[in-house]
Amino acid sequence: MPETLTSTTPSDAAAATPPSAPVGVTQATVVKKSAPKSDYKPADVSPQRRVQRSYAIRLWSIRHSRGLEWFYARFADLFLLLHPVWKGIGYSRVEAPVKFVEKRVKGFMFDCRMCGQCILSSTGMSCPMNCPKQLRNGPCGGVRANGNCEVEPDMPCVWVKAWEGSRNMVHGDAILNLQKPVDQSLRETSAWLRVTAQAGAAKDQARAGAGA
Ligand code: SF4
Repeated sequence: MPETLTSTTPSDAAAATPPSAPVGVTQATVVKKSAPKSDYKPADVSPQRRVQRSYAIRLWSIRHSRGLEWFYARFADLFLLLHPVWKGIGYSRVEAPVKFVEKRVKGFMFDCRMCGQCILSSTGMSCPMNCPKQLRNGPCGGVRANGNCEVEPDMPCVWVKAWEGSRNMVHGDAILNLQKPVDQSLRETSAWLRVTAQAGAAKDQARAGAGA
C-alpha cells in the first residue's frame, strides 16, 4: 500500500525531530525510543533473532585473517593460472557455477553480500557490506563504547573488527587505502572472476608487448 505524502509545516518538523542524545546514549537509541509504537515488528530485525546470531564464523575468519590472507593469495594465483581455461570456455559460461561456489563459501565464512567488488584483503577479512550503513572507508561516529554497532547493538562493528583483523595481516596497512563507492551494477556478480579476468588480460597484454 503506498504511503500518503502530506505537507509538513516547520512546527510539525520540529515536533518530529527526536531530542539529541544525552551523554552515553547513542542517537539510534533515542530515535528508536521516540518512534511511534506499532504492532508491526519486522521479523528480520527482532532483537531475539539478533541475539541468536552470534557472528561466530565471521569473527573466526577475522581472527584468522593472516592465514586467510595467505590462502587467498595462493587461491588467486591458482585462479589466474586457470585464466586460459576460463577464457577458452568463456568467462560468461563459467560465471554461474563459480558464482554459486563463491556465494556459498564467502557467505559462510564472511557473511558476504556479493557486492561483486571484494575488498576483504583491505579490511582485515571483515566484510564492510555487513555494516548497516554499508560504509567502505571506516566506521561512522556511532560505534558504542563496547565496540558494537550503533544500529545493530548486538553486532560488533565491522570496522572495529576490520582494524583488528588488519593488524594480523602482512599487508594489513591496505586498510588505509581509500575505497571507491560501491558500484551497485556489480551486485551479484563474481569478484573472483572479475579480478582474474583483469589480471589475465594485463598478463596477456604484457606478453603481447614483450613479443612485439
Ligand atoms: S566485500 Fe563484497 S564480495 Fe567481498 S565479502 Fe563483502 S560483500 Fe562479499
